[in-house]
Amino acid sequence: MVAGGSRHGFPPRIGLTVNFKPADGGGPDEHAVADAYVRAVAAAGGLPLLIPNLDGERHAGAVLAAVDGLLLTGGVDVDPAHYGDLPAPRLGRVSPERDALEIPLVRAALEAGMPVLAVCRGLQVLNVAAGGSLIQDIAGEVPRAIKHYQQAPRWHATHPVEIVPGTRLSELLGACTVQVNSFHHQAVDRVAPGFTVNAWSPDGLIEGIELPDPERFVVGVQWHPETLWERVPVFRRLFEGLVEAAAQVSRKA
Ligand code: MN
Repeated sequence: MVAGGSRHGFPPRIGLTVNFKPADGGGPDEHAVADAYVRAVAAAGGLPLLIPNLDGERHAGAVLAAVDGLLLTGGVDVDPAHYGDLPAPRLGRVSPERDALEIPLVRAALEAGMPVLAVCRGLQVLNVAAGGSLIQDIAGEVPRAIKHYQQAPRWHATHPVEIVPGTRLSELLGACTVQVNSFHHQAVDRVAPGFTVNAWSPDGLIEGIELPDPERFVVGVQWHPETLWERVPVFRRLFEGLVEAAAQVSRKA
């Protein structure tokens, strides 16, 4: 299966970014992440560790020293200021707390050669941190787009994506076309320098990017494999790929 011989015989440590939920209605501020990410990493043989939204400029190095790989999870929109854009009318909620951790953390992770799996917002923040940009609202900006924010259950796949042959993603999934779920109203616009597209939706939107370097594992997808893999086992390969790459890191440590 995965990850034999990792650090001290322990599972590779996978850091998960999480949401910051400001207090509303008198409750406390909270950090929270969907349980599906935690279970997907654990099922793939990793040890999930949740990373709070500290100031990334100050703490990225220490966070990276504490993990062997990163899972950038889904969440709210990235502030368009980070890619030099003004907020469009249909920009959704943003999280200055998450941006402040994740953007410096992703830059440091790329520099350090840390394995990264990026899901939904994770893919978007990966692209922005590496110098790319986003479509702020698909329905408002892409005339013939299909429905990318499904109202079907999270485990239900609603549109196909074409996997680009020769990519790490195609190596993991071993298929030219897969059916995916879709919970995004934004998408990658300008691909970050050094990255390549690994998946397309039928309306021509980017559904994934990765670093085209066989020595690296930096893979982002716009869909949510963490709520698909229990019914469609091939998607478990994404988490296993991350954990396997993280095991290499932990062996070198
Ligand atoms: Mn989609």
